[in-house]
Amino acid sequence: MRGTIGADRSADSYLPQHGNGGYRVTHYDLELDYKPGPGRLAGRARITAQARADLAGFSLDLHGMRVDRVLVNGKSARYSHRGNKLRVTPARPVTVGAAFTVEVRYVGTPKPVRSPHWGEIGWEQLEDGALVASQPIGAPSWFPCNDQPGDKATYRIAVTTPSPYTVVANGSLVSRRVGGSSTTWVFEQLAPMATYLATVQIGLYAEVEVSAGQRAAVPPRLVGVFGHDFGRQPQIMAAFVSMFGAYPFAEYHVVVADEILDVPVEAQGLSIFGANHVDGHRGCEHLVAHELAHQWFGNSLTIADWRHIWLNEGFATYAEWLWSEASGGLSAAVLAARSHAEMARQRQDIRIGDPGVRRMFDDRVYQRGALTLHALRVRLGDDAFFAVLREWTEKHRHSTVTTDKFIAVAQEHSLKPLDRFFRSWLQDTALPRGFE
Ligand SMILES: [Zn+2]
Repeated sequence: MRGTIGADRSADSYLPQHGNGGYRVTHYDLELDYKPGPGRLAGRARITAQARADLAGFSLDLHGMRVDRVLVNGKSARYSHRGNKLRVTPARPVTVGAAFTVEVRYVGTPKPVRSPHWGEIGWEQLEDGALVASQPIGAPSWFPCNDQPGDKATYRIAVTTPSPYTVVANGSLVSRRVGGSSTTWVFEQLAPMATYLATVQIGLYAEVEVSAGQRAAVPPRLVGVFGHDFGRQPQIMAAFVSMFGAYPFAEYHVVVADEILDVPVEAQGLSIFGANHVDGHRGCEHLVAHELAHQWFGNSLTIADWRHIWLNEGFATYAEWLWSEASGGLSAAVLAARSHAEMARQRQDIRIGDPGVRRMFDDRVYQRGALTLHALRVRLGDDAFFAVLREWTEKHRHSTVTTDKFIAVAQEHSLKPLDRFFRSWLQDTALPRGFE
């Protein structure tokens, strides 16, 4: 059907202006050349996709940058780039079900995406390097993409930059080639990944091995303190593997940027902390646990729609409490009681199962999300509760999830119906009185 532009929108209930429902991406192959001084990025994205409708045209999300050329299936295509949409009209329409490739060459100085509710997100030039923190809408700041969490794809990310810099991106480093004064780093992420979890980190870092499969890139002056503060990360990993099931990716990388960051940021297979999160006293160990937990809850199991954000943040917050308990600190029950008392003092005007786009990252989504899980644990008992968590991560590994899917898994482990329980915790605004 001519005239279809793949809706130019996604089905996401909070951010439908991001993404395009007309196709799904199976693979992103990104070749990037970055000059840290001027902050200049030259990119070539080769995207493999499959049409979900007959497409006379389609759009990609791309913020700023100058597009020099677009090819569809190897042939020049017409395009226009306005706002954050790159609209492409191939020489021949793509038929429903067909696989197709799109190649985009682009250049510019990437700028973070300004968002009304979450500040500036995406590619950020640092004093000496760059970092990318894209949740939820920053991915188009550095590559053309179908920017919706439910459209997961594999990635190859190649970055060429001056040789003194270290590059970390998602997945395994498959080659590092020095040529003249620059080095090309190639990473492959073979597990499907949402666009907001794609990242590139560039800086003057020392590379540290925390333990087998756990590496870090850290400013050289912080290596000693980092060794202390992240010293128990292997134990956190072991505790989470026993509680949540197998770690979902080939490796885990931590980057400590030489910057002050409000909060650490998760990406697939890695987490990004600020220099302020390394204090020599393990003052941020709960955040080390929180970010690691996102590898299961958020990254392997990715929400199909931003509305389900509590499935990321409630779980990662509860993981902080589980680690406290497992490491001989305060029990999850004590931390839950404290959090409940605090929530009871706050306004009760949020439905954490559907908090609204403005309040996706409201602290109450994190706290009450964790409280929901604690209440479920009290109701089911430890054996059934942890069986639910392991079945949840196993059944939906590397896939996309919704609140209803979680309720279905929990219900299988409960003789009594859980509808009212979940409704009162997730859909009602009033805070349930306690955990029974
Ligand atoms: Zn989080």
